Amino acid sequence: MTAQSSPSPSTGEGGRCHAHPDQPALGACTRCGVFFCERDRRLVDDQPYCDTCAARPDVDYLERFRLEYWGKRDGWAWMVGINAVAYLIGGVFLLVAGGANMLTTALFWLVAGAVCACFWLGQPWARLGFVFIPLVFMGISLVKAEPMGLAFGVMPLLMSISIYNDTRNKLFFQVEMPRETLRKAWHLYKNNAVARAGLMLGVLGLFFPGVGLIALVCSGIGLRNVDPDAQPPIGRKGQAIAGLVLGAVGCLFWVWLGVYGFPRLG
Ligand SMILES: [Zn+2]
Ligand SMILES: [Zn+2]
Repeated sequence: MTAQSSPSPSTGEGGRCHAHPDQPALGACTRCGVFFCERDRRLVDDQPYCDTCAARPDVDYLERFRLEYWGKRDGWAWMVGINAVAYLIGGVFLLVAGGANMLTTALFWLVAGAVCACFWLGQPWARLGFVFIPLVFMGISLVKAEPMGLAFGVMPLLMSISIYNDTRNKLFFQVEMPRETLRKAWHLYKNNAVARAGLMLGVLGLFFPGVGLIALVCSGIGLRNVDPDAQPPIGRKGQAIAGLVLGAVGCLFWVWLGVYGFPRLG
């Protein structure tokens, strides 16, 4: 708490901060128009706000997005957690029943299981440690002169690197990120997700009967959602239209197939 001094003699020009009357105003909030001083001036996407407005989720949707996933397990974290159980059970089994020649493999599985378990628990070091599991596996294969093992490590290595770079997984590990990265992830996961789903279903509807109908519904809702003037702007108009077209084509195709049957070959 700062002691509020009595209003200082006015200079006769310029406003005073709404929250701190002893401070000269630096400007007005973009949203509510209140005067702010240096202490409660907040920049959101280069626009100045008062600190009350800056905290509003409709003003800072990226902050809302960040908080929604901050420290929360994503799909990858759960997948790695299931891996941990499999590695640990397999490792114990090999240790008990595998004999001396399986000792290296058993120990590798146990260590890998421990790393995966720590990953699931959100231990910061395990994020990089997880990438080292396929690397160590490939290293062991190299030492044992088993080229197949080396080949088997490539896919898991690429996968673990992509998990390492995944924005939602980084949010689970509470890694600070630039707003641009958050914006890309927000666009992928949050920007008119129903329109994005509609387009995917529209493609599926060409191959599976009935799916085109769901695509039409999703794309229709998605198209209605589109609002470039909203805060944040809601896009994917093109995808919604493409989903409607594909959904309609899929429906017509399957109806046509139902009426006339599969074309007889030969
Ligand atoms: Zn404001
Ligand atoms: Zn102030």
